[in-house]
Amino acid sequence: MIREHYDVIVVGGGPAGTMAAREAAQNGVSVLLLEKDRDLGIPVRCAEGVGCKSLHQFIEPDPRWIAHTLRHVKLVAPNGQEAKIHTEEVGYILNRRLFDQELGRKAAQAGATLLTQAYVFGLKKRDSQVTGVKVKLSDREIDIDSRLVIGADGVESRVGRWAGMRTWFAPKDFETCYQVLLGGLDLDSDYVTCYFGQQVAPGGYAWVFPKGPDIANVGIGLNAALTNGLSAKQWLDRFVEKQFPQAAVLACVAGGVPCAKPFKQIHGPGFLLAGDAAAHSNPLTGGGIINAMSAGKLAGEIAGECQRTGDWSEKALAGYTHRWEERFGDEQRRYYRLKEAVSRLTDQVFNQAADILNRLPDDKRTLQSVIRTTLAHHPKLLLDIARSFL
Ligand SMILES: Cc1cc2nc3c(=O)[nH]c(=O)nc-3n(C[C@H](O)[C@H](O)[C@H](O)COP(=O)(O)OP(=O)(O)OC[C@H]3O[C@@H](n4cnc5c(N)ncnc54)[C@H](O)[C@@H]3O)c2cc1C
Repeated sequence: MIREHYDVIVVGGGPAGTMAAREAAQNGVSVLLLEKDRDLGIPVRCAEGVGCKSLHQFIEPDPRWIAHTLRHVKLVAPNGQEAKIHTEEVGYILNRRLFDQELGRKAAQAGATLLTQAYVFGLKKRDSQVTGVKVKLSDREIDIDSRLVIGADGVESRVGRWAGMRTWFAPKDFETCYQVLLGGLDLDSDYVTCYFGQQVAPGGYAWVFPKGPDIANVGIGLNAALTNGLSAKQWLDRFVEKQFPQAAVLACVAGGVPCAKPFKQIHGPGFLLAGDAAAHSNPLTGGGIINAMSAGKLAGEIAGECQRTGDWSEKALAGYTHRWEERFGDEQRRYYRLKEAVSRLTDQVFNQAADILNRLPDDKRTLQSVIRTTLAHHPKLLLDIARSFL
């Protein structure tokens, strides 16, 4: 039975929304989470890769929703030369359908009410104060009141815009993506592989994230300002035709990732934004699962504090922007500048970097050394990056 009023309404049942709902509910807040789709976690718009250590902060990894474990990274330069990189951290390829549902289950266990097939189509407002949501259920449209709305509605977010914020992205700050699940492969499934180059993915990269020895998420992310008039699907078709001509396409998905500078403000009167809705994904890699979970957890903590103090004012909610900025702001801006610099690299630089890396002993080839060696051998690039940091 849905009530007419909750302390907190969370819009969106992805990692940001479920973490926010769980954390708020654990802090004694009454929470309603609304998800427009029939199931949490479906459709999967994600290559499903996360670092094991990062995930551990939020949830105990469980083989039920881990499809595969990886230990190495392989970078492929435009001329086809491969550079194998050692990483400190083990990586997981999740089964996001099950993972997102598990996060939802944990939110429900903590006391949150979850409702799917619940499409939020507007906000209730008193002047500029957000006071609830307008939601379309399978059989009716209703208004529900709240003290706080958490917009965790992903890359296509409208909560921020409805609340009066400017939340859209310039094409250069948006990666347009297409991904297929390929079967019938013959892979070294210990490796995540990323392909670079103007002929592969201008301003981005193509990825192969194995889910087993013969199956992988194979996708492409392109800077939306550099697509040369082709869609991400056309770029990916070309890539798959060349690399995996015999593979079977088992599923496909189109999507986008914000690769933008952090918003100056992610709160307002009666609302907070978290995850892709607030451009929280890593601007360099496009990875957003962990960032969304971090933001969601923080949003839930803030809701708990408001509940304890009885203060739900905009001033109290400003703690969310401040704390997010303190913890992640500088790091996100650094990744953004690095993305800007990397998007200017020519194929020749990528080829040279692979060459230099391959001359290093195995144990010296780490992600840090990729950056260090590329920069050390390209003073001009170093200058570009230095400029972008000033
Ligand atoms: C092709 C692709 C590959 C990616 N690969 C990776 C990867 O390997 N690793 C990684 O870390 N990140 C990856 N990402 C990014 C990652 O998927 C996102 O950053 C992450 O899912 C963001 O979580 P979120 O909770 O903010 O949003 P989402 O996971 O997008 O969740 C938002 C939810 O809100 C719901 N919603 C939207 N509007 C409404 C509404 N009006 N009413 C009710 N519900 C609504 C949606 O249905 C959705 O369930 C990838 C993205 C793409 C597109």
